[in-house]
Amino acid sequence: MKFQAPRGTYDILPKEMNKWYYIEKIIKKYVKLFNYREIRLPIFEYKDLFQRSVGDDSDIVEKEMYVFEDKNERLFALRPEGTASVARSYIENSMISSKRDPKKIFYYGPMFRYSRPQKGRYRQFYQFGIEYIGDESAYADAEIITMGWKILQEAQVPDVSLEINSVGCKKCRKDYHKKLQEFLFARENKFCPNCQRRMKTNPLRVFDCKNYVCQEQLENAPQMLDNLCEDCEKHFDEVQENLKKLNVDYEINPRIVRGLDYYTRTAFEYKINYLGAQDALGGGGRYDGLIEYLGGKNTPAVGLSMGMERIILALEEAGVEFPQINTLDVFIIPMDKKYDDKAIEIMNKLHDSEISAQIADANTSMGSNFKFCDRNNVKFAIVIGENEIKSEEYAVKNISKHKQESVHLDKLTDYINSKIE
Ligand code: AMP
Repeated sequence: MKFQAPRGTYDILPKEMNKWYYIEKIIKKYVKLFNYREIRLPIFEYKDLFQRSVGDDSDIVEKEMYVFEDKNERLFALRPEGTASVARSYIENSMISSKRDPKKIFYYGPMFRYSRPQKGRYRQFYQFGIEYIGDESAYADAEIITMGWKILQEAQVPDVSLEINSVGCKKCRKDYHKKLQEFLFARENKFCPNCQRRMKTNPLRVFDCKNYVCQEQLENAPQMLDNLCEDCEKHFDEVQENLKKLNVDYEINPRIVRGLDYYTRTAFEYKINYLGAQDALGGGGRYDGLIEYLGGKNTPAVGLSMGMERIILALEEAGVEFPQINTLDVFIIPMDKKYDDKAIEIMNKLHDSEISAQIADANTSMGSNFKFCDRNNVKFAIVIGENEIKSEEYAVKNISKHKQESVHLDKLTDYINSKIE
């Protein structure tokens, strides 16, 4: 039997890793600049955690969770997203935060959703996420939005549009829900069955429907943005002022509602228009209600998550060249098996100086060895033969420059160190 990776999953092969390192390096830079600390979360959690925080009527909980029972008949789910776990951990570990001392946290790792796999949509995919907990001020929202923006800009993802909206708070959403429901019920039978159900339980979610007939119906729907309370309106204005100070370009899109129950006020998405239906690279928003809802203290928070595969696809689509990673500094080529001991001695010396080195098989032809060097971006080759052993002088070949210099055994590491950055 020939095994295959499960549908919707894939291997990230060694030759693809340079793309991942490229983005990860930029992410590392920005979490450091803005002082976020890493959290590593379990890959699975109690199913109820997601049910409660992501919402019963969300696509994630309704259709996309990988749920399993353990030997003790407890129900778990592979994590479909990170924020619920961060909030759970925040409460469980009695973290304390305030405007003066916010908890700024980031996570990175695989998420799992049972959805129909297609380009840019997988069943296991990687998300990077940041959370700013303890501060309700609009600056926190702007900082989170800015970080995602800067990461995408520095990665050189072309034509990203940042769309922002406010979904208000519990107070203003109540009246708005009524208005929206009136509008929706007046055209109920024009919507898909899913929307018809959601308009009764959580009308805002109707905006999430991908069905374009439903989207068309929503053209003239009342918008949350026109129905914000005074505080929410002020907050949204301040978010925008801060974004301007932070030099971030944005547009307002009143249709961004985010599919999750715990979002309040700011909601945003980074979008591109050249990856077909998978046009969102990331997004997030404020979730002031979540921590209290999960049993913690009333704690304001805002966060974002970004899809790594989509960012890489966008860069590939745009023809961006990823930097190559040189993995091997020196290839040591003994011309005969009897020089293997010397090869190991030289390799040890190089490794002691943190120069990467690997020994060639003594029985392989010189031609094949140099082809290996070309294929693998090797920087230098050192050939060991009778003359070299006797004289202790080694020809160090610079592979890309097609040049060689003779270097004494004692000077090998200094010489190579001086030639590599
Ligand atoms: P969400 O948690 O649904 O807001 O997703 C945040 C980001 O994760 C999206 O904008 C995508 O970039 C990425 N993402 C979500 N679902 C998938 C998936 N099934 N496959 C690949 N990327 C995904």
